[in-house]
Amino acid sequence: MPLRSKVFRNDRALEECLVRDAAHIVTGATGPHVSKVQTAVTLLDHSEIDPAEIAGKRYGRSTAAAILAFKSKRGIINRAYQSQADDIVGKMTIAALDNGMFELENKPDLDRDDVCCNGDPITDGFRHAVRNQLSLAIQQSPEQGDFRSRGFQLASAPVTGALGFSAPTFSLLSHFSRLTPSQIATATGVFGTSIDFTFVLLCDISGVSGRAFTVVAGPLLVINCGTFSPPNSTLIHELTHVWQSQHHSDAAEFMRNSVRSQALAVAENEALALVDPTLKTNPKFPSQFPRSPYACITGRPFSEYSAEQIAKQVERNFGAAPGTPIATATDPIVSHIKGVARVAVDADNVTGLKTARTEDKRTAGALF
Ligand SMILES: [Zn+2]
Repeated sequence: MPLRSKVFRNDRALEECLVRDAAHIVTGATGPHVSKVQTAVTLLDHSEIDPAEIAGKRYGRSTAAAILAFKSKRGIINRAYQSQADDIVGKMTIAALDNGMFELENKPDLDRDDVCCNGDPITDGFRHAVRNQLSLAIQQSPEQGDFRSRGFQLASAPVTGALGFSAPTFSLLSHFSRLTPSQIATATGVFGTSIDFTFVLLCDISGVSGRAFTVVAGPLLVINCGTFSPPNSTLIHELTHVWQSQHHSDAAEFMRNSVRSQALAVAENEALALVDPTLKTNPKFPSQFPRSPYACITGRPFSEYSAEQIAKQVERNFGAAPGTPIATATDPIVSHIKGVARVAVDADNVTGLKTARTEDKRTAGALF
């Protein structure tokens, strides 16, 4: 059976690797096929690969170490002649990487309505891969001057023009796009002029986490919805995280708050289930039931909500007809957001993101 994952299939070198011992990928190999292997092992195991090896598409020491760890973890050993895993990509390894990527790409997204972001470990692997790919792309982009003129430096960009290779034959680049004018128009209705869209990219890699999320990658804010045309409610939710990033002195603080709030909900729900074990029968237990990081009681000051509680209120406000109870209850949050000047740090946002929060969905009036 040929390779099935989107990232691997129809790559001649990798298809060969699957069937021929002589086509195994070993230390010293270079090329787009190596780049794909690096992407896969990063996404599957969130391995740390030396950025210089990624930029050079080179199977160097850290790539070999990542593959060895991948194989050891899964017991990929050719018992015919060895007793422990080695660090080359042979038939069994490429098949395992392919299966992993295929599953990842096709993971059901049961929680898309309720969960976004950052709690899923795969998001870290994604961010790592994106950061490196985008660093490379920006170095080669005609818009490089645009990024540079705004004073942004890519702290982790190891790539210089000196490496001298042309645009990558394979990269994640085709999976990124700026927002369309129509999407920006929709967003402007909610956020006014408070968001700078220059560094906001949409990503369409489906199944990376099975959920929409927004990550900071270098100077960029990358919204991954698995599609370039997400439902507007999802787009608005994720753009609220963009707003939280752009109006804080630490662009990644919303991510930390989201992760901490999600962890808090699980801990609280596990504790509640010790008293009432029936809670465990709810399919949303323990991540979102009975307490959820996406639930809140409306009407409190902006600074008393966490990242997801704000994003959920803006999302619900967008979906509600004006004058309805949900719209009225969440209007002050949207007004606050719209009223902040572009780029300015917002003190209420800073205060709100300091605290992880959840709410009990069973509480009367809880919005989620
Ligand atoms: Zn969110």
